[in-house]
Amino acid sequence: MTAQANFFEEVNQYFDQAAAFTAYPPGLLDQIRGCNSVYRFDFPLRRDNGQIEVIRAWRVEHSHHKTPVKGGIRYAPEVYEEEVMALAALMTYKCAIVDVPFGGGKGGIRLDPNHYSVGELERVTRRYTHELVKKAFIGPGIDVPAPDYGTGEREMAWIVDTYSALNPGQLDALGCVTGKPVTQGGVRGRKEATGRGLYFALREACSHPVEMARLGLGLGLEGKRVVVQGLGNVGYHAAKFCREGGAILVGIAEREGAITNATGLNEDDVFRHRKQSGSILNFPGATNLASTAVALEMECDVLIPAALEGVFTAENAPRVRAKIILEGANGPTTPSADPIFRQKGILVIPDIYANAGGVTVSYFEWVKNLSHVRFGRMSKRHEMANELVMLRAIEAATGKLFTDAERMQIAKGPDEEDLVNSGLEETMISAYHQLLETKAQHPGVPDLRIAAFLNAIHKVARSYAELGIFP
Ligand code: GLU
Repeated sequence: MTAQANFFEEVNQYFDQAAAFTAYPPGLLDQIRGCNSVYRFDFPLRRDNGQIEVIRAWRVEHSHHKTPVKGGIRYAPEVYEEEVMALAALMTYKCAIVDVPFGGGKGGIRLDPNHYSVGELERVTRRYTHELVKKAFIGPGIDVPAPDYGTGEREMAWIVDTYSALNPGQLDALGCVTGKPVTQGGVRGRKEATGRGLYFALREACSHPVEMARLGLGLGLEGKRVVVQGLGNVGYHAAKFCREGGAILVGIAEREGAITNATGLNEDDVFRHRKQSGSILNFPGATNLASTAVALEMECDVLIPAALEGVFTAENAPRVRAKIILEGANGPTTPSADPIFRQKGILVIPDIYANAGGVTVSYFEWVKNLSHVRFGRMSKRHEMANELVMLRAIEAATGKLFTDAERMQIAKGPDEEDLVNSGLEETMISAYHQLLETKAQHPGVPDLRIAAFLNAIHKVARSYAELGIFP
């Protein structure tokens, strides 16, 4: 167990701070806060060398106020029960904040994927799925896993294949898990979704003149110095979209250390360098930093923790010099660091809002699976035809003729990826405005995190009210 053994407790501290701004009966708050089901199980893995190893795993369903419950599966050597509970709770609040109609769940398997062969990982994943099926802890209307730290499309493909084999003929079986490869029922844009959502969140935050003036920053992303911790799926894509949006990537931190270059790094080049050399260190043109911890304390405009929880504590928070913290990871800021950031005037864009792009697009994938049709398939040509009519009318009225390139650009008709990305953009923008509104309505609410928790509590409480559980 790590120093973060009280992660669930910490999530509840934030919850309680927000709950103080409500008048809900204590019993209802207890119901919202607690974990409904915690399933812990062990199963044997036959290693490639013939030895048997016992694997410990969990699936936690935090809240059934809406079903299915939703949340990723984490493969990590340090996974422990309260961590999975905390992450499941964060999923409940996250889904509520972005109006994704799911309860929260999370899974964990205690292993380091780097120490197992692909065949072993496949056996573990399929057996894990089997165990969930046995206890009805998975299914398109029950509990729908997704990728998280240490898992990706490959594991999701094994899960859907195992689930489908155990439920022959189940029409909606593809909706038992999200984050699948596109060829296995996935949706275009899911892999990039968490990173893209982080970018939309940051872009929205940076478009507010009063807030930017308070931070001493200009409007927009252009020229903002970004440091990212973690070059996994979330950190990589967040870095990519922010850089493409005009930001300068001045630092990247990973397990083995960190690198910096004031004139800008390219996440693709660094990623390739790491793949070849096994480390981000010694990247041509960059300077090595002594440790990941040093990178977190670099002077920058935007710091993106995109690895694991518990990164900022009362110990290092006073040394953080970023103006904005964009939480890509779940739970990077402990409640002991939070007031320090507030005191320093740092704008923290909280995890339960900022990284909700992943589950938002998971929702689109699930809807696609249940509807059995790709987004845009029915409407693309129709919209294209309408747009061409409009173009011709404009040409007739103005006498200006569009070039073929312009015509293609304007009258393209949206495909699946366009629709997914615009749905994500709309979700992130409107949820941010809801946070600002809540903060404005409650002068005592100290920051966006507590505003986000407050919004989530109201939405979950409303569900319970609609279920007739309280008046
Ligand atoms: N693991 C991701 C998260 O923490 C995605 C969950 C999902 O798509 O269900 O939000």
